[in-house]
Amino acid sequence: MATVRELRRAVVTGGAGFIGSHLCERLLDEGLEVLAVDNLVSGDRANLAELEGRPGFRFLERDVCAEGFADALPGGPFGLVMHLACPASPADYLRLPLETLETGSSGTRNALELAHRHGARLVLASTSEVYGDPQEHPQRETYWGHVNPVGPRSVYDEAKRFAEALVTAHRGTHGTDAAIVRIFNTYGPRMRPGDGRAVPTFVRQALAGEPLTVAGDGSQTRSLCYVDDTVEGLLALAASGLPGPVNVGGDEEITILELAQRVIALTGSRSKIAHIELPGDDPVRRKPDITRAREQLGWAPRTGWATGLKRTVSWFAELPEAVRAPRP
Ligand code: UDP
Repeated sequence: MATVRELRRAVVTGGAGFIGSHLCERLLDEGLEVLAVDNLVSGDRANLAELEGRPGFRFLERDVCAEGFADALPGGPFGLVMHLACPASPADYLRLPLETLETGSSGTRNALELAHRHGARLVLASTSEVYGDPQEHPQRETYWGHVNPVGPRSVYDEAKRFAEALVTAHRGTHGTDAAIVRIFNTYGPRMRPGDGRAVPTFVRQALAGEPLTVAGDGSQTRSLCYVDDTVEGLLALAASGLPGPVNVGGDEEITILELAQRVIALTGSRSKIAHIELPGDDPVRRKPDITRAREQLGWAPRTGWATGLKRTVSWFAELPEAVRAPRP
């Protein structure tokens, strides 16, 4: 497969979400017809406002877990299923624990069924969370992970691990052309202001002049990737025909305290740092080894930190005050 364009029509589950909406836009730019499907529990139709009038774009409010999901989707036949639907921020999946497990299981089964019926390529958006609180650093795709199956994050981690197992079994049993991408922390415009994650929380706090709430001493690390780069990684995997799993993520590791300081510096805010309690099972260090993505997909992140954060801050700064205020 040379380009995703040849796949012609795509379904994006979770299409109204943060990464999903950017992906829909990119697929349309690439010349595909796109059906975005979302039940809007954590996604927001406003993320699709600029796409709604574009030729080839459709939105359908539907739960990927619904029985018969694959039966009657408008706009097919489809050549590509990008399965991104799932609550993804810790606050969301703690608020929706059973729904999160259901999305990883029934939702992924339905997405696979859809791909199988249409003879379509499927990409499962998995996560760095399959590595849990990793004991190997940086994390390669060959690492099996260190996950607490009954811990607070287990509903997300295990849902995605189960989804990976489903994809693997579907490939083996039905020959479904399904692939796995493990997405690491991604940031950018359209993150939900109240989703509880570090970037939107810090940006909102800095713009409001409030203290930035750094969990614990802030020495835990993450490696952030700008959303446009993450989306390029998803496209590259879709086009490649390879099964993965493949890590897609930023290769610059920073501490959460540094992240807070960068946000303060970039916004010119007078906010201070306030330390809050570290959530249970919060991973201590996280950084992808992206050798596989570089070598097999020719992919690497390209957007520097300053550019990415500037774009993110501008987007947040333009939101009406009432929208920028946190909501669950
Ligand atoms: N974090 C923080 N303050 C906040 C929100 C998050 O210090 O207001 C920390 C969180 O404890 C974690 C890191 O930032 O160590 C990244 O959290 P996020 O929710 O963005 O992503 P994830 O934990 O899923 O990597």
